[in-house]
Parts: sequence; structure tokens; C-alpha cells
Amino acid sequence: MRAFMVAIAVSAASSGVCAEQSSFEQLFRNRTMRIDYYHVGDSATELYTLDQVYEQGAWAGSTTALIDELNLGRCMVRVFDLATNRLIFSKSFDTYFGEYRTTDAAEQAVKRAYHESVLMPMPIRKIQFTIESRDKAGILHRVFDAVIDPDGIDINREGPRGDTGVITFHQSGDPHRKVDVLFLAEGYTSTERAKFESDVKRFVTLMFSQEPYASRRDMFNVRGAFKASTESGCDEPSHGSYRRTSLGASFDSLGVYRYLLVEDNRAIRDIAAHAPYDALYILVNTKRYGGGGIYNLYCTTTADNAFSDYVFLHEFGHSFAGLADEYYSSTTAYNDFYPTGSEPLEPNITALLDAPRVKWQQVVTQGTAIPTPWEKADYDKMDSEYQARREELNQKIAKTKREGGEAGELQAESDRMAEEHARKVDQFLAASAFAGKVGACEGAGYTSKGLYRPSVDCIMFSKGVKPFCKVCEAAIARVIDSYAR
Ligand SMILES: [Zn+2]
Repeated sequence: MRAFMVAIAVSAASSGVCAEQSSFEQLFRNRTMRIDYYHVGDSATELYTLDQVYEQGAWAGSTTALIDELNLGRCMVRVFDLATNRLIFSKSFDTYFGEYRTTDAAEQAVKRAYHESVLMPMPIRKIQFTIESRDKAGILHRVFDAVIDPDGIDINREGPRGDTGVITFHQSGDPHRKVDVLFLAEGYTSTERAKFESDVKRFVTLMFSQEPYASRRDMFNVRGAFKASTESGCDEPSHGSYRRTSLGASFDSLGVYRYLLVEDNRAIRDIAAHAPYDALYILVNTKRYGGGGIYNLYCTTTADNAFSDYVFLHEFGHSFAGLADEYYSSTTAYNDFYPTGSEPLEPNITALLDAPRVKWQQVVTQGTAIPTPWEKADYDKMDSEYQARREELNQKIAKTKREGGEAGELQAESDRMAEEHARKVDQFLAASAFAGKVGACEGAGYTSKGLYRPSVDCIMFSKGVKPFCKVCEAAIARVIDSYAR
């Protein structure tokens, strides 16, 4: 009965929609093909090798928007129907490897292997699966291709393991036409399931209180996947503290104190396979400050820090909408993340190579100079003092903890300092002559000179629950709309 109702609704829509619908059904089944592979290399080389192909549950993505028109990632998968050579699916994304390859170790030719997955609807016929990767000038080159037979006996068709409970937090409709966000519990023990549920609820309420999510809440489904961890928390290598958890999330990722990522892609995908998803959010059960987000891969935040609400919104901006960091003063592991002389892919930072024209020209506030002469020197002075003190204090905390000592007072001092600094930054930026305007403010993308952000402040720039700048807000809205077509 339900299928019949859907068919009526589709035929009532435009004839264009009907044509696309029938072409999905000619090419795909409503199942998910998960293609796992290894991505190996250093800063100069990369190699891909197929691991395992899976057939999994119902396809979560669109059945009409199968070609990625946003093109925001450093990698691009293109899939062709082998018989007709027709492009039938594409998806752009970033990878953990893509970050690793900008580190000192990768530049010294230390090769590392990362496990990665691509999800696509289950094809009916043989496909040519290709991966393209960008060079430093941003040009895509094909680096891998393989023929995959969907009827092959080598495809793993086991169902999900069944060790994971699925909780629905927000339901708007058919996954094909909605953004399906799936929260994964990390570092929650079997007795902490209720805490996971209340933590997710808190973040979902926050998300739908903020634009552009607030006016688009009916374009989302939100679910949670709960697999109990043996221990609470997560790994904190620089504190000498390790926990047995379901995903293996770790601080100090790429050697950065606050950077919290998961390397065990197979663990993520096996747990996530219990529910349909377009976007993954890993919620880590700890008080410590940290998080991370990689475009079209996943993001992380911690549940109980004073800044968790901010981190929650900021990291989803990276992983869901491909937004860049607009800040430029905090420590990172990257070298030359945005090569000089090329325009960043991200919609919210620019090298301003075509000045005074800027890529967000249509939203520039009338009369605002490009570049915008914001109060950068004063800001830099205030911020660099704080960053130096924070770095020193973090090192002291880590050393004390590694040596088995109590760092409670140092941690309290660090928290006080962070909150005081965030307040000072908010006041400073709110008092700017350019507050609330859209222009091109120098200092963005980990670079003090030569990269520009749209506004003096944004949740991609400074800490605190505040609005996204107009450029980020519009970029997120575009991505939501691309799923809901
Ligand atoms: Zn922004």
C-alpha cells in the first residue's frame, strides 16, 4: 500500500522527475554498495588497492541527484556503467590520508596506509569504479580504476552484525529525499546508553535552533547507533591514557593535542551499517576539549566540554558542507595545506586571486572594501599571547598526566583562560567596524597572509555558539538542498 502511494506521488510530479526515477530503477537496486579500499602513500605518492565490496541495507542517498555537482573534495569517485560507458554516479570527498600527506612525516617520505569506503546505490550491471585525486594546483587526475560485478560471488552480503542498537531522534520522511544524519556512540559503556541518548537530543535541539538548519529541520532524519564500549572515554596518548572503546577515537591525531579522529574506518562502517546515513557524527563521551571533521567522511565532538556546543556546529560545517577553517592562529600539523597561488576549493575562504572580485561577490555588503581593512594587527596581538599561553599550559597538563599526577588545577586554569579569551574575542569582533558585514578579511585557512574569510566573525573562525557568516550559511543550505532534491 505504501509503495502504491509513493508511485502516485511520483507520477504527479514533473515529467523530468519521472524520467530520472525510471533511470534509477534501470541502473540500480535500492540497496547500498560499500566499496572498501586502502589508500597508501606520502606527500608525493599515493596508491589505492581494493579491499572488499559489500552489499548492505537500503540506499540512503538521493535517487535523482546521483552526480555530485558541488565538487568540494580533494578526491572524486566516478562510476560508469560498463556496457554504455555512461557516468551513473559521482561523489566528492576528503580523506584522513589527504590530511596526513601535508604533515612533516609524509614530506619525509614516511608512507602510511588508511582504510577508506565509498557508498553508492547497488548497481544492476557491471561498473567501472574510478577514483580521482587533485594535484597541488587542484586538478583532478585518475589514480585508480576497477571493474566491479554486482553479481560477483566475492561480494560480501552478510547482514549487519546486530551488535548495535538504532535510536530514531528526528524523523521527517523517506531517506532518499532527506539528509540522514547518524550519530555513533564512542566511549559510552552499556550503562551509559541513556546518557548517549540525552547527549544526542541536546545537540539535535541545538542544531535545529541555528540557521540554516532551523528553517530546514523537515529536511533531516536523525538517528543514533549505539554499540557499547568496554570503557568510558577515549584514547589520550599525550596524557598516557588509553581506553578500550568501540571505534578507537584518539586525541593527538596527526600529533595535534586537541585533534580527535578515528582511524579504524572498518569499525565505523560496520557499526554505521545498521542504519541508513548520508552523514556520520561520532560523539565521544569525554569532558575534554576537542573534535575534528573531514568532508563527506565524518566529524567528531566531545560530549561534555564547556565548548562542546560550538565544536559540534563547527565540525559538522567541515564534514557536511566542506567548509574550511577560517581561523589562522591555532596550531595544526599541516604544511602548505592551501598551496600558494591556487584558489581553495572550500566556499568560505579565498586567495582573492581575482581581486577586487571575490567568489562570494553576490553577498558582499555594499560599500565594503575588498580586501576589508579589519582590525587585524590588534586582534593578532591579543590572540598570539593567548595561543602561546595555551600551548604552554597544554604541554604542562600532558606532562603531569603522563607522569601519573593530578592536573585538576592546571586544567581548571586552562578552562578559565579559554572562556575568558573567547569572551574577549567576541567583544573585540563585535566592536569591529565591519561586524556583521560580508567582505574579504585577511587571515583564514591556517594562514595569516594571503587567504581571506568572508566576515570578521563566524562559527568557523572563533569559539562560541554564534551564527555562521552569510557565506557559510548559504554553503550549508546548498548542501542540504542537494540531498533533498
Ligand atoms: Zn564563515
